[in-house]
Amino acid sequence: MKNSPLSGIQISTDKEDLICYSFDASIAESALPQAVAWPKNTDEVVRLVRYANENNLSIIARGAGTGMAGASIPSENCIVLSFEKMRKILDIDTKNMTAVVEPGIVNGRLQKELECLGYFYPPDPASLNICTIGGNVATNAGGPRALKYGVTRDYVMGIEAVLSDGSVINTGGRTYKKAVGYDLKNLLIGSEGTLALSTRIRLKMLPLPEDIMTLLLLFKNLEASAIAVSKIISSKIIPRTMEFMDRLTIEAIENYKPTGLPTDVDALLLIEIDGYPATIKKEAERIVDICHSLGGEATVAEDDMARERLWEARRSISPALYHIKPTKINEDIVVPRDKIPLILTELQRISEESGIKIISFGHAGDGNIHVNVMVDKNNKEEYAKGMRTVKRIFEITLKLGGSISGEHGIGITKSPYIGMEIKERELELMKGIKGIFDPKGKMNPGKIFR
Ligand SMILES: Cc1cc2nc3c(=O)[nH]c(=O)nc-3n(C[C@H](O)[C@H](O)[C@H](O)COP(=O)(O)OP(=O)(O)OC[C@H]3O[C@@H](n4cnc5c(N)ncnc54)[C@H](O)[C@@H]3O)c2cc1C
Repeated sequence: MKNSPLSGIQISTDKEDLICYSFDASIAESALPQAVAWPKNTDEVVRLVRYANENNLSIIARGAGTGMAGASIPSENCIVLSFEKMRKILDIDTKNMTAVVEPGIVNGRLQKELECLGYFYPPDPASLNICTIGGNVATNAGGPRALKYGVTRDYVMGIEAVLSDGSVINTGGRTYKKAVGYDLKNLLIGSEGTLALSTRIRLKMLPLPEDIMTLLLLFKNLEASAIAVSKIISSKIIPRTMEFMDRLTIEAIENYKPTGLPTDVDALLLIEIDGYPATIKKEAERIVDICHSLGGEATVAEDDMARERLWEARRSISPALYHIKPTKINEDIVVPRDKIPLILTELQRISEESGIKIISFGHAGDGNIHVNVMVDKNNKEEYAKGMRTVKRIFEITLKLGGSISGEHGIGITKSPYIGMEIKERELELMKGIKGIFDPKGKMNPGKIFR
């Protein structure tokens, strides 16, 4: 097979491999691909894309499969391109504070490498120990630190990408500023593998902050926690994270992996501030005052171990919830910050009226609430009720000026709802762009648009 167009490329059609690459972290139905390939470099990606073209196969890019919207689920007659083997850090340029990476590098590994050099890559999805930078770029991933530092898009300077015809393009570049032509790089960010395959990414990095302080704020009343979020920010403090958990989330964590969180409170905020020690000390005092003025209790994590324990609790939410019900319909709505109290009360009301458990947690500082509608997919009636509940939640979110996805993207699971938010003319433009990049509709078909 030396002269085969795919010679040297690792490919499998074994059933066990096809099964492993047939699902992601969402509730979307899995589907088997025809084959899975693990390219090692851009040339191999190009050859795979050309081969797929000649053989009428679709191409599904895959990072680590941690996506929450079914965006990397195979479609009919497709080949999955897993970027696991393209995981090198190609360059760290401390003079210009940039790093060039291959798409398969795990976010947490990049963070650690940069930290050793005194630098910092802020986007930190809670899945950071498994998800890849390529997946983060394709979903424009956010994370707890987005409140102060922004999301993936804010750190991508340039992308090398392979188009559906096998040609290679370079978008963006090495400079922090650029005002030349349309911004193709930004079109690729968040496009969920439907326009092109990223093969090399240049990222911005920042100096590590001098110091970090972690605070835990406990509230007996859900509304007070939401008001605390607005009060802290309107007093001109921008924490690096401001994570919210409701009572059911706290109970779920403590039942699953006890970390010492109190279960007799209605909500908590996990807040981190960073900067110069003297500044953050003052900010912490102000936050504690705000918390007390709303009847809450505040504690400061005393050392790294205490801090890590709190973040461990935050990261265990997802597995903990599966002990409540077998299916969690996980949505990541986002509302303007001042509407957080309203949306939380509405969610409570919908849950009481429908009898369906809704568990909320998330990045309260930027209004991005992870809403988990807890059902059993095998109970058809309950599942249908859960799906109706999701639609009601989207309607209310949009009425409050919000959006149906803050960071997970549309994929398959939210594609039936995209028209609730994006109007016809805008959708036409988006589909037109897709048609120019991918005239045969072979790049991750069935995702974003139905
Ligand atoms: C426990 C848990 C916590 C999470 N927390 C967060 C969070 O805080 N914030 C957040 O934003 N998300 C979060 N997520 C969702 C998920 O981790 C992110 O969407 C992440 O960016 C997906 O990365 P991945 O490598 O797993 O990509 P995949 O799931 O494999 O793929 C996601 C999308 O990217 C495309 N893609 C992958 N690689 C490429 C490439 N090289 N070129 C083109 N397209 C590509 C795929 O086709 C697909 O459309 C969480 C998920 C879990 C399971």
